Amino acid sequence: MDKYNHWLGKFVGKLNGSTRYAITIGQTAYFSVPEAEVSAWWHRHEDEHKRQWRDEGRIKFLCTYIYYQCKYGYTNNPYEIAARKAETAQPEMA
Ligand SMILES: [Zn+2]
Repeated sequence: MDKYNHWLGKFVGKLNGSTRYAITIGQTAYFSVPEAEVSAWWHRHEDEHKRQWRDEGRIKFLCTYIYYQCKYGYTNNPYEIAARKAETAQPEMA
C-alpha cells in the first residue's frame, strides 16, 4: 500500500533538493505529496521499482542499486532507465 504526504518521501526529497519525491522500499512507495498530485506515469515509475525489489530480492536489489548509483549516477542507473521506460508503457490488459 502506497503512502502519501509521507515524511520519508519529504525527507529523502529534501536531501535530493526536491519537494516532489518518492522513495520505494519493497512494495511500498512513500510519496512526499498527497495522492491527488501523483500522476499515473509517476505511479508506473514507482511500480517498476516495486517489481525490481520483488524480482531481484531485497538485499540484491539494494546492493546493486547503490552500486549502480555510485557507478552511473541517478540518470544512467539501469534501474532508473527501466523505471522511466515503464512510465510510458501501456497498462497491461488482464
Ligand atoms: Zn526511480
